[in-house]
Amino acid sequence: MLEGRVALITGSTDGIGLATARALAARKASIVLNGFGDADLVARLCTEISEQHGVRAIHLPADLSIGEEAAGLVETALLEFGRLDVLVNNAGTQHRSPIESHPPARWDYIVSLNLSAPFHTIRSALPQMKTRGWGRIVNVASAYGLVGGIERSSYIASKHGLVGLTKAVAMETAETPVTCNAVCPGIVATRIFYKMAKDLAAREGIGREEAQRRIAASTMPSGRPVAPEQVAETIAFLCSPAAAEIRGAAIPVDGAWAAH
Ligand code: NAD
Repeated sequence: MLEGRVALITGSTDGIGLATARALAARKASIVLNGFGDADLVARLCTEISEQHGVRAIHLPADLSIGEEAAGLVETALLEFGRLDVLVNNAGTQHRSPIESHPPARWDYIVSLNLSAPFHTIRSALPQMKTRGWGRIVNVASAYGLVGGIERSSYIASKHGLVGLTKAVAMETAETPVTCNAVCPGIVATRIFYKMAKDLAAREGIGREEAQRRIAASTMPSGRPVAPEQVAETIAFLCSPAAAEIRGAAIPVDGAWAAH
């Protein structure tokens, strides 16, 4: 489905981003990984993806909290491959504290990474997508891009902003073959989730499965975490021909969290 296309997934050395890189490589896209991580591990990921799927996979470092590096990442990918067809803005982080004690520097960092980086990458990638006549932009927001919550002001504001950016770009590209959408995951079973469940199980003297259920059920009526692959497959669907007229959507993958 994506043969001959090139996909850049930010923050793809782990978690949802890595699952997305694998899902797009399985559809024959060449892959640009980005994100932090041990150099040997990252090299192994590139080799594994490229051998498993018969595509080119490279890693390009960039600290996306710095605007010039976010724009530079797209420019370097274009130099390497001569094209960029799929852009998945996935890198993101959060800080938990009440707003009164939220360090201003952490606010700036989180807004830079979660919201400004997608602005810079989209701004740099869009012109050649339009010229080439095809493009898919998917922003990984969050259920917290759709609903409020406590002790996460920077995360919630930046993810709501990312959903807004998605709509703005979708409207500006509505007459073109480039689409822009967001996915809004609930609690995803990444490394941090399993660690939280392990800690809760030890603290409460309960089984790990019960701990996972309790964490998931704290916000999701399903009571189950979302698998990274389920988010990745939703992103892959947005890159399919069937999704060509899905524009400006913010698709929850969240066990009915945002349906409250
Ligand atoms: P993760 O922590 O497992 O991985 C984050 C990736 O981003 C890593 O590759 C890391 O190296 C990279 N990264 C971090 N800071 C970076 C920076 N400054 N520059 C470049 N790369 C950077 O993350 P995850 O849990 O898979 O989350 C991915 C996205 O999904 C984030 O935007 C997150 O907000 C969103 N999300 C996650 C969940 C969840 O439960 N995990 C839920 C909803 C939304």
